[in-house]
Amino acid sequence: MTATFDFDVLVIGGGPGGYACAIRAAQLGLATACVDARDTLGGTCLNVGCIPSKALLTASRHYHAMARGDWSSYGIAAENVSLDLSRMMAAKDETVHGLTRGIDFLFGKHKVQRLHGRATFSGPDRVSIAGREFTARSIVIATGSDPSPFPSVEVDNAGGVVVDSTGALALKGVPGKMVVIGGGVIGLELGSVWSRLGSQVVVLEYLDDILPGMDRDVRTQMRQLLRRQGLDIRASVQVRAVERNGASATVTLETGGALETIPADTVLVATGRRPNTTGLRLGAAGIETDERGFIPVDHAAKTAASGIYAIGDVTKGPMLAHRAEDEGIALAERLAGIPRAVSHSIVPAVVYTDPEAAGVGLTEEAAKAARRPFRVSTFPMAANGRAKANRETDGFVKIIADEKTDVILGAHIVASLAGTMIAQIAQAMEFGATAEDVAYTCHAHPTHSEAIKEAAMGIRGRPIHA
Ligand code: FAD
Ligand code: NAD
Repeated sequence: MTATFDFDVLVIGGGPGGYACAIRAAQLGLATACVDARDTLGGTCLNVGCIPSKALLTASRHYHAMARGDWSSYGIAAENVSLDLSRMMAAKDETVHGLTRGIDFLFGKHKVQRLHGRATFSGPDRVSIAGREFTARSIVIATGSDPSPFPSVEVDNAGGVVVDSTGALALKGVPGKMVVIGGGVIGLELGSVWSRLGSQVVVLEYLDDILPGMDRDVRTQMRQLLRRQGLDIRASVQVRAVERNGASATVTLETGGALETIPADTVLVATGRRPNTTGLRLGAAGIETDERGFIPVDHAAKTAASGIYAIGDVTKGPMLAHRAEDEGIALAERLAGIPRAVSHSIVPAVVYTDPEAAGVGLTEEAAKAARRPFRVSTFPMAANGRAKANRETDGFVKIIADEKTDVILGAHIVASLAGTMIAQIAQAMEFGATAEDVAYTCHAHPTHSEAIKEAAMGIRGRPIHA
């Protein structure tokens, strides 16, 4: 007798991994449901992550440029520039609301059944949600991640004194002084937002540099540029204590054996995120997490339990929305019988500061460590016509290609549009392109992307404009 199930596919988590998986599964004719404990769909990314942070990055950049008179060299002057923070926050919330409602619309359109509540496994093929039990042939865990706690520091997002990223996206006033613990992506993006809006921002990083994992040249240039913008970035420091005193806090840090205390109106804890499996009762499904709390999966997103899969931030790998989404879509297609894989070595990473920093594939350090003979070519944005016309000449494009085959191994970009530009290299790498393939592809003029073509030309020959 064949077992009958309520659904072919039940997805736990409505973030970019979960909702994309559910939509594709339903598009392919599978009876699909998606459950999320939040009132709104879209997960961390749409509600308290990618989207609100980018809305504030853009708004704060506009404000900063106007308030500082950045456009005066064009003959554009603005007087009495003022900031209505509550309106800026409302605009961000409107964007978030529109996009999360958009996922509801897509669920309706593609016939994904939306369930609301916290899902708990009650067996290997069943979960309880708000007092009801549901069975499914395949269950996908896409429960994402939460901010990592900082030892002996209690985050109080509503209070606004010691906050994590969620609190830093909703402060009610501009802090006079903000101390950011962690010089990673969140620390630099949200540190940039509040610095542009007027805070004096100190970034405390315990490694020897910011942005661990990115190419060394990117890290060096970003540190210099962000310092020039006013971020007080301090590397190789140990945060010893964070004490809240009413409406402010003090941070005690140690640098090379010397102790220092910094007062702050707001302390942002941005020291990483951890996988979220709280309340899932994975044991009831026969699944154990690894020592860091991630759900172990194979290349096809299969967990140790038959019929149960895991994707996105809850599994090991870069905690990025597009990784989660690609894994979700590929998994849904496999569940519908279509062979599909994700290229985990070609996942671009972007930091949305100004300029942006982006990378894909091997860094120069990783290529060296792998003892892989390679060539490197770097082209400065200052020699790119469009960047010059736009007065955004900071940065470079760096391409790393295999010494013998010329196949592109990685690319690293600092540029105002680095996040958009890196897609070209990701696609080239997906197709196994050589630097020559990119160098002889016609690029529209004048565009920032011509810097990619020029860097590619530099691998075996010479760029034209440098
Ligand atoms: P999530 O988006 O975390 O979604 C998981 C969902 O599962 C949540 O909605 C949660 O409520 C739900 N859930 C959890 N447990 C249960 C349960 N038991 N029952 C029911 N529901 C449950 N990434 C980028 O690529 N680009 C960016 O610009 C970017 N910016 C970011 C900015 C910030 C401030 C933050 C915090 C993150 C950012 N990220 C960014 C990371 C990105 O948000 C995550 O990588 C992405 O959201 C992961 O998607 P996911 O589907 O795995 O999980
Ligand atoms: P992260 O891992 O990017 O950075 C954390 C930083 O904190 C690291 O530099 C780390 O060395 C430092 N750190 C850790 N403990 C510390 C301590 N005790 N004192 C001082 N520094 C310490 O993590 P994040 O910035 O919190 O972001 C979390 C995740 O969210 C990341 O994986 C990131 O991929 C994702 N995210 C992505 C984007 C984007 O794609 N643009 C934006 C925001 C967040």
